[in-house]
Amino acid sequence: MENLMISASGVRGVAGETLDPAFLAKFASAFGTFVNGGKMIIGRDTRRTGEMLKQAIFAGLLATGCEVLDAGICPTPTNLFVAGQLQVDGAITITASHNPIEWNGLEFAKANGELLDETDRTRLMEIFDAEKIELASWDKVGVVKKIDDAVDRHIDKILSLPYIDEKIISAKSPKVVIDCVNGAGSVISPKLLNRLGCEVIELYCVPDGNFPRAPEPTPDSLEDLCELVVAKKADVGFAHDADADRLTIVTEKGKALSGEYTMALAADFMLSKSSDKRSVTVTVSTSQIVEDVARKHGVPVYRSKVGCGFVAEKMRETNAVIGGEGTGGIMFPEVHYTADGITCLAVFAQMLAESDRPISAMVDEIPEYFMSKQKVEIESKNMASEMMESFVKKHSDETIDLTDGIKLTRGNSWVGVRPSGTEPVIRVFSEARTQNEADDFCREIINELGRPCRP
Ligand code: MG
Repeated sequence: MENLMISASGVRGVAGETLDPAFLAKFASAFGTFVNGGKMIIGRDTRRTGEMLKQAIFAGLLATGCEVLDAGICPTPTNLFVAGQLQVDGAITITASHNPIEWNGLEFAKANGELLDETDRTRLMEIFDAEKIELASWDKVGVVKKIDDAVDRHIDKILSLPYIDEKIISAKSPKVVIDCVNGAGSVISPKLLNRLGCEVIELYCVPDGNFPRAPEPTPDSLEDLCELVVAKKADVGFAHDADADRLTIVTEKGKALSGEYTMALAADFMLSKSSDKRSVTVTVSTSQIVEDVARKHGVPVYRSKVGCGFVAEKMRETNAVIGGEGTGGIMFPEVHYTADGITCLAVFAQMLAESDRPISAMVDEIPEYFMSKQKVEIESKNMASEMMESFVKKHSDETIDLTDGIKLTRGNSWVGVRPSGTEPVIRVFSEARTQNEADDFCREIINELGRPCRP
C-alpha cells in the first residue's frame, strides 16, 4: 500500500484510504497488549481527521484494558513530557507531524514517554502481525479520563530549567512572531512566549487544523512569516510543524533558515551553558556546521541513525548536552529525550535576551555550508535495497559510512543516499562548501540512481 507507512516512529497513512477505523483499532489493541493493558496517555495534533483516529484507537486501547488519559490537542513533545511526569505505561500521539494535510498517523512511546527502541518495535510488530492481541474481559475493559493541564505542565517545566530566566527575557522583551501553521503548537507556544516576557505576534495560531502553508517548516514555505517579521520589525520569527516538535528560525532581516541552523545555534547556546562540556549527538545526515560549533567548545559530535528514537538512544549512551536533527527537531535532556520545538522556543528567547547582537549576526559567525536535497521515486522497498546494494559495490573504493543508508564522503563534501521510512522514495542529499559543488554531487548520484521527481 503506497499510502501506508509503518516506520521507526509509528504508523502514517491517509484517512479515507489506508487509515480506516478497523486497522487503527487493531493497531491500538496491539499497542495496548504491548503495554499489558496499562495506563496510556493520548494527545493529538489539530488535523480534522484527528478525532476519527482518536475514537478508533480509544476503542482499541480500552478493549485491551488500558486506562486512557485523554490529553486532547497537544504537541507531541507535550504529550510525551506529561507521559514522563505521570509515569504512564505508554503514550500515543495522533499526528502525521510535517506530512501534508491528508495524512495522519500514530506515534508510539513506551513507559514514561520514552521512544521505542528496535527491540520494542520488533515486539510490537510481532503482536500486530501474528494477531497476539490480548483482549480484556468485560469487567476489565478500560476507562477514559480527561487531562486538562498538559500544556501548563510542560510550560512549568520549561520555566524551571536552569538555563531559562524569564527575568532576563522580560527585561529585554524580544519581539517575536510565531507561526504554528494552525497546528498543535497554536495554544502552548504563544502562551509560553508570553510567560517568558516576549512581545508576541501570532501568525496561524488558531488550532483548527486548516494548514495555510505546508506543515513542514522549510524556508520556502515560510514567506508569510518572513514578510511579517520584517513588517513588524521583529527580532525573530519562529515556525513549527503540525505537532510542534520542530522549530525553524527566521532572522530579523526576514530570512528563513534551514533547521540545520536551529540545531547549530541551539548547540552553541547549550554548550556555552554547560559546565562539564560533554558532547553533542546528531544524525549522520545533519550538517557539518554543528561540528564547527562543537569544535569551538572542544567537545565531540556523535552521529546516530536518522530518527528521533536513534538520536535519543545515542544521547543517553554518550551523555550528550543536546541532540537533534537538521530538520529542526532538537532534544534537551533536562526536559526529556524527544524532539521539543516548545523548549527550543525558550532557548532561542533566552539566547536573544542575553545577546547584544541580532540573530543574523549570530548566523553570520557560523561557517557556511550548502546542501542539496532531492528524491527519486521508487515502486517498492525491495527495489530500494537492490539499488542501495549495487551503489555500495560501485563505490567500494571510496569513503563510505553505512550507519544509516549510505554516506559517501569526498574531501569537504559528502552525499547521503537513504530510502525514506515514510514515503516510497530514495532521498539523496549532499553538502559542500559551495552550492554548485553540492548540486553537482547530488545530480551525479541522482543520475546514477534514476530520475529525480521533485526537489
Ligand atoms: Mg513533527
